[in-house]
Amino acid sequence: LSEFSIIKTISKIVQSDRLDVRQGIGDDAAILRTPLRSDLVVAMDTLVAGVHFPVLTQPYDVGWKALAVNLSDLAAMGADPSWATLALTLPKPDNTWVAEFARGFVALARQHQLALVGGDTTRGPLTITVQAHGWVKKNKGLLRSGAQVGDGIFVSGTLGDAAAGLCLALGQTKSGCPIKVNSIGVYHRKILLQRLNKPTPRVTLGQELNRVASAAIDVSDGLAQDLGHILQASDVGAVIEVAQLPASVALKRYVSQEQECRHLQLCGGDDYELCFTVSPAKQKHLKTIEKKTGVRITRIGHIVSGHQLMLVDAKGKKMRLPQQGYRHFS
Ligand code: ADP
Ligand code: MG
Repeated sequence: LSEFSIIKTISKIVQSDRLDVRQGIGDDAAILRTPLRSDLVVAMDTLVAGVHFPVLTQPYDVGWKALAVNLSDLAAMGADPSWATLALTLPKPDNTWVAEFARGFVALARQHQLALVGGDTTRGPLTITVQAHGWVKKNKGLLRSGAQVGDGIFVSGTLGDAAAGLCLALGQTKSGCPIKVNSIGVYHRKILLQRLNKPTPRVTLGQELNRVASAAIDVSDGLAQDLGHILQASDVGAVIEVAQLPASVALKRYVSQEQECRHLQLCGGDDYELCFTVSPAKQKHLKTIEKKTGVRITRIGHIVSGHQLMLVDAKGKKMRLPQQGYRHFS
């Protein structure tokens, strides 16, 4: 089995009918038509087996997630996804694995009318790099740097589910899950594992937030760390009301100890929700956006002057931040 048959497998499964793809997979490079009056948004993310996903993850889910993490970055910019390229490094040429991977990838790609237009295939430890492209109107797009004192801080969906899902996945391995957890039924198990393996990038929400949010980031390394990037880029501080952090029923069942649950919500990775800031004058639009997208939006705090991220409990008493989010080199 050659890399060429692997490429053929992929290109057959991921076929797209986007009119702006003049030449997709199959030549030396892709030729893509660009719209006027738009700015190109480019994101790239790599998944390394055993680092970004458990080695036993289904190939379909790996394909889905490899694209999802990139779409989440485009969503955080408020961009409309268009094309992606894929660098695939495989330990051995396994056509069945590749076909399932491509099916997972394209299932999400089709939801957002994104075309896979090229890539590269090599041998080595299982590693997947995707570069995703999208469009925003000229000079538009959500940055990390626009948060202002007095803005509300919001998150989409629920937090901590993927970290709980990772605990479930690790529970079956030698390293085990480091926190105290309850046994839960298959229904809630499935929800948490799906949140880890098949995250939903908030693409439509991101686009809706374009005219409304002052700053945005996607939550990939834990809320505390990612919100920290907004604070740094915007030169502001924040107060987070920990009791307001949205938790799913599944998470609350699985991790009933309050403090451990909060820890997962603040520091757990892989949520791929959006965290964003909105000025008081624009907050009235959020109800409409919530209805339109079907994505829950929760106010979790507000922007203050200074540089600190301060956590407060339900009574307004200061709390300590448990720990940092995920970092590769520390
Ligand atoms: P070259 O040697 O000219 O780089 P390749 O054989 O690497 O050509 O690639 C041939 C075509 O297949 C190109 O269009 C390339 O973008 C595409 N391609 C290669 N690997 C992948 C992949 N993993 N996913 C999608 N397209 C790929
Ligand atoms: Mg090549």
